[in-house]
Amino acid sequence: MASVQISNVSKVYDGGVVAVQDVSIDIQDKEFVVLVGPSGCGKSTTLRMVAGLEEITGGPISIDGKIVNEVAPKDRDIAMVFQNYALYPHMTVYENMAFGLKLRKFPKAEIESRVREAAQILGIEEYLQRKPKALSGGQRQRVAVGRAIVRKPKVFLFDEPLSNLDAKLRVQMRTEISKLHHRLEATMIYVTHDQTEAMTMGDRIVVMKDGIVHQTDTPLNLYNFPENKFVAGFIGSPAMNFMEGVVEQNGGLHFREKNSPLTLSVPKEKEDTLKSMVGRDVWMGIRPEHIIDAHAAPAQAAKAAVKVEVVEPMGNEIFVYFSTASDTQYVARIHASVAPKTGQAMEFGFDMTKALFFDKATEKVLR
Ligand code: ADP
Repeated sequence: MASVQISNVSKVYDGGVVAVQDVSIDIQDKEFVVLVGPSGCGKSTTLRMVAGLEEITGGPISIDGKIVNEVAPKDRDIAMVFQNYALYPHMTVYENMAFGLKLRKFPKAEIESRVREAAQILGIEEYLQRKPKALSGGQRQRVAVGRAIVRKPKVFLFDEPLSNLDAKLRVQMRTEISKLHHRLEATMIYVTHDQTEAMTMGDRIVVMKDGIVHQTDTPLNLYNFPENKFVAGFIGSPAMNFMEGVVEQNGGLHFREKNSPLTLSVPKEKEDTLKSMVGRDVWMGIRPEHIIDAHAAPAQAAKAAVKVEVVEPMGNEIFVYFSTASDTQYVARIHASVAPKTGQAMEFGFDMTKALFFDKATEKVLR
């Protein structure tokens, strides 16, 4: 297995489209790294440059310490799994999986043993003689993964491999790929636009937007310590609430929502962070689980009068979409026993110890 270094890499397509800009990612041996971001952020381009399917405009990419910019894809010792599976329709599952090894002139017995082993790992032994069209989407996806496994590559690359599967199968394949990662102890780079996929699978996640890396960290660190408003809003579902407002000093420090009398007191431990921002515009970010029905909220939570707009029952909890006096909509995630009604006036408690603040101009988190 191998490490992968992407060092200040950029990609400019013909016509001047800057798809990737100064991207650096240091992927350790056996690590599972997920590149995530909205459509068009440059994650596939980055992966394709590692694979050698896209020429690199600037900056080196190394696999196992060796710069591969000029190395042909077939000589990079990587295997890629694509969103559309890319199986040969006229070949059986066995032939699809064996094809890459045959091209590389592996002995027949070795091919057979590798294909059988991969098929056993993936639970597709009984389909080896079928053609892809006689398989379900999930089975085809397993064949595509199997074709990568038999190669025993240094690095596995996955480009949105689960996008074509239904929701239930996606969750199942997610755990299967995670298990596979542990079993093979392989270095894996995985591209997705789905933050849940990223959060549940990655050892580390690289959050990209507009061709730029916004933050690289473990799932929990991204969730708890986002560097900026984009990362804070992208990671987490339902997404973090952002309240536009200003920092005021009146005895202690307060956050006042724009176009609204709603004032939330800033807890002592956040005062150092915010004292230089008095009179300045900021975004306050608060996750839905940190807005609580006022009766259940801890005494120190800042209380706010709200109007319930939409209630989404989830079984064990409910998502309550509510508005404040500013008419802005936010979402709280509260215990199902509270059962508010649409149109109801309520009091919610904001756990301000969990709130984050972002500079309005730079959108960077204030620490
Ligand atoms: P993602 O995988 O995050 O959706 P891509 O890496 O596919 O994003 O694309 C990044 C940017 O590069 C987008 O603006 C896209 O339109 C552009 N792009 C991708 N492929 C090409 C191409 N072959 N020629 C020109 N522009 C491209």
